[in-house]
Amino acid sequence: MKTDFSATRAMFDLPEGVIYLDGNSLGPLPKAAQARVAEVVGREWGGMLIRGWTQAGWMEQPRRLGDRIARLIGAEPGSVVMGDTLSIKVYQALASALEMNAGRRVVVSDSGNFPSDLYMAQGLLRSLGPDYQLRVVAPEEVPGALDDDVAALMLTEVDYRTGRKYDMAALTARAHEVGALALWDLAHSAGALPVRLAEARADFAVGCTYKYLNSGPGGPAFIYVAPRHAETARPALAGWMGHEAPFAFDPDYRPGRGIERMRVGTPPILQLAALEAALEVWDHVDMRDLRARSLELGDRFIAGVEAACPDLVLATPRVHEERGSQVSFRHPEGYAVMQALIAEGVIGDFRAPDILRFGFTPLYLGLEEVDRAVEILARIMAEKLWDRPEFKTRAVVT
Ligand SMILES: *Cc1c(COP(=O)(O)O)cnc(C)c1O
Repeated sequence: MKTDFSATRAMFDLPEGVIYLDGNSLGPLPKAAQARVAEVVGREWGGMLIRGWTQAGWMEQPRRLGDRIARLIGAEPGSVVMGDTLSIKVYQALASALEMNAGRRVVVSDSGNFPSDLYMAQGLLRSLGPDYQLRVVAPEEVPGALDDDVAALMLTEVDYRTGRKYDMAALTARAHEVGALALWDLAHSAGALPVRLAEARADFAVGCTYKYLNSGPGGPAFIYVAPRHAETARPALAGWMGHEAPFAFDPDYRPGRGIERMRVGTPPILQLAALEAALEVWDHVDMRDLRARSLELGDRFIAGVEAACPDLVLATPRVHEERGSQVSFRHPEGYAVMQALIAEGVIGDFRAPDILRFGFTPLYLGLEEVDRAVEILARIMAEKLWDRPEFKTRAVVT
């Protein structure tokens, strides 16, 4: 293993006494991000004022950082751009795919997909007309749901609840066989495992940066359009920043060159500054090393919990090829168990109805933390420490 994970760990600012197993939901603070944001606020925004758009290169930032993310997801240079939230990017990618496959009316997705992805598809299809249909099937039924009516296959590579991972290349090939386009959500893949978009021949991909890429709460999303589609895909959300010449103030939309057209409005410069600093960590990481360590941490956690907590039922596939970088267990009182864990400094999260979710992010987690987390969880289960009223009141964010 070439990657020095003690060096990457030193690049993060984690509070004392916390074992953080929720980097799959909100990555922790990279030390460089705090300094970088302060600098952009003071020197660029404060000092340059509106000149920052050119003097500090703010205008090119969505594209420059898109290229740095492209490297992490196996995408071609110039095929990724930053902006907006993931939900918006799902809408944009799906709308383009449907327009490119205009003779067809069906979108296939799976019942484990993140609700916002499904909601976005529902809203888009409703506005396109009553003959459009979202066909939602169980994950194992996806290949069988693909036929000649399908315009687009829209899947999240790694299931946000169970951590189950699809074979992106195989499903993309299957979609192409029936003439459908493949759109992949990389929310739980980017920064979590090696992704090879170009090799898999994905048509579109989207993802967020505040999870495994550590850009901070509200960090911008990214969108990928395969270069073979870049000059034909048309953005339904056509904003002035995606126009061929934003400062021509032309009343008619003309798409910008390639991926630039997927930009919508003014980019979030402060969030992009945090992202830029957060991406420095990845200059020191080999994704194969990251994957090997992430699986090792996950295996250790599964073995420890199964040995010590017979009431918890594994919800994540054991097979390495079939899982992402998180491990989930089911328990009917999962919410209370997680609250009790958090009270002891082990931070994971809960996903309804009964999933305890633990993210394993080698950048700042080692085997010692995994063992310690197992020990604390085992004590909570053995002594039923979760069975207290204060752990059962649901907060707004779980
Ligand atoms: C986290 C996540 C989202 C969240 O979308 P936002 O618009 O960033 O809030 C959407 N889809 C998937 C699959 C996710 O995991």
